[in-house]
Amino acid sequence: TPVIRVAIAGYGNLGRGAQAAIKQSPDMQLVGVFSRRDPASVILIDQSVPVYAMDDIAQYVDDIDVLILCGGSKSDLPEQGPAFAGLFNIVDSFDTHAKIPEYFDALDAPAKKANKVAMLSVGWDPGLFSINRLYGEAILPVGETYTFWGKGLSQGHSDAIRRVAGVKSGVQYTLPSESAMARVRNGEQPILSTREKHTRECYIVLADGADADTVRNTIVTMPDYFADYDTAVHFIDQQTFESEHGKMPHGGFVIRSGVSGIDNENNNQVLEFSLSLGSNPEFTASVLVAYARATYKMNQAGEAGAKTVLDVAPSLLSPKTPAQLRKELL
Ligand code: NDP
Repeated sequence: TPVIRVAIAGYGNLGRGAQAAIKQSPDMQLVGVFSRRDPASVILIDQSVPVYAMDDIAQYVDDIDVLILCGGSKSDLPEQGPAFAGLFNIVDSFDTHAKIPEYFDALDAPAKKANKVAMLSVGWDPGLFSINRLYGEAILPVGETYTFWGKGLSQGHSDAIRRVAGVKSGVQYTLPSESAMARVRNGEQPILSTREKHTRECYIVLADGADADTVRNTIVTMPDYFADYDTAVHFIDQQTFESEHGKMPHGGFVIRSGVSGIDNENNNQVLEFSLSLGSNPEFTASVLVAYARATYKMNQAGEAGAKTVLDVAPSLLSPKTPAQLRKELL
């Protein structure tokens, strides 16, 4: 089988995780890393590949089978996704759930025109959680689906608060409600408001001269990200930030609680998928890399346009052949 030539666009947490995940994939070869910063200033976790200027990326269209976009969802991907979808097969982790339909459309047209596949919103949520929500409701059509996150650091939300004026450093943790989870596992099918399921906690280091109340207000009222939650904002100093908030754990649960059978012969059926992640970006990047493989195969098979995880057959994620998979995993 041919080696899939991949490149990374944007080198932050996800970019580093992608480089590590590609090293664990013998069927893939990392061609290089692209960054908007001065390439000489970008230090890779493994310096065996070059760093190129993002502005030169179009020169490499014939050298890259799949480009993995590792930019932020808030302002990087809305620009980079549509631009790069017209040049390469791409995979990204766009996670602003409310804007996925419009982002899909923004990628679909250029990807179709270029005969490439643009795989958006890959990761764990959106991503593996989305697939499990689909399985739950397709298999148990009479029931309710519940998603709980955390406790963990949310990169998308941390990204969003770091872009608020007056914020020097910031992290955001999401906490699930244990009592709400217990009720769901019990088969109760409670109606839970967004506020009852989770709370959000932000730890912020203010920039010099910034006003705490203004920063707090901008955060707690931010649409899509914080407006629908009870959000606590804590202000701490840089030293505390560095010693206590350096790791990026996360995880969560998708639970479908349904009933099968007929009338008063019903049985409760509870389907649960959970993740417990030591490093959110390394795991998300590992998902991106598996979907980069699928993206390549789909494009080789003649597909083009925007796709999501819901459009990908599971066997395409594996480096193994369908025959091998049937023998080993069925
Ligand atoms: P980072 O902030 O670490 O990186 C984002 C971009 O910022 C990079 O691509 C890089 O671009 C630039 N950058 C990185 N480091 C620096 C620096 N020191 N100085 C200046 N610029 C820098 O974000 P993450 O990698 O943690 O997360 C990216 C996105 O992943 C999130 O916005 C989130 O939406 C998504 N995500 C999705 C998940 C899912 O389940 N779908 C789960 C987790 C995350 P460049 O190299 O061009 O400068």
